[in-house]
Amino acid sequence: MFRVDPSRCRGCGACASVCPAGAIEFVGGKARINPSLCVGCGACARICPAGAIRPAFQPPPTQPVEEIKTRLISLSARIRELRGRVERVAERLKKEGAR
Ligand code: SF4
Ligand code: SF4
Repeated sequence: MFRVDPSRCRGCGACASVCPAGAIEFVGGKARINPSLCVGCGACARICPAGAIRPAFQPPPTQPVEEIKTRLISLSARIRELRGRVERVAERLKKEGAR
């Protein structure tokens, strides 16, 4: 989502005026985004004259290594199966073309 850098915020209120979710409140004259209301549209960041609103860092979802390995194994088996099918079709077409 997005977050406000309070050291840059001038308290102008432009962000709150465009927020469709009513997610921006003011604390001590500085804007603050309520993450449970923010829908991540980015309107506030685009309108902020001070460049005080930036996307908040979100770590990528982690997948357990074992789950990734299992998926890769099943994908490579599927690829082998498809390759076999393609080779059989190519062989059949070749024979039909030779007649
Ligand atoms: S638009 Fe920017 S400077 Fe104005 S209140 Fe919002 S965060 Fe602060
Ligand atoms: S990203 Fe959109 S919903 Fe979230 S605080 Fe900014 S204007 Fe509101």
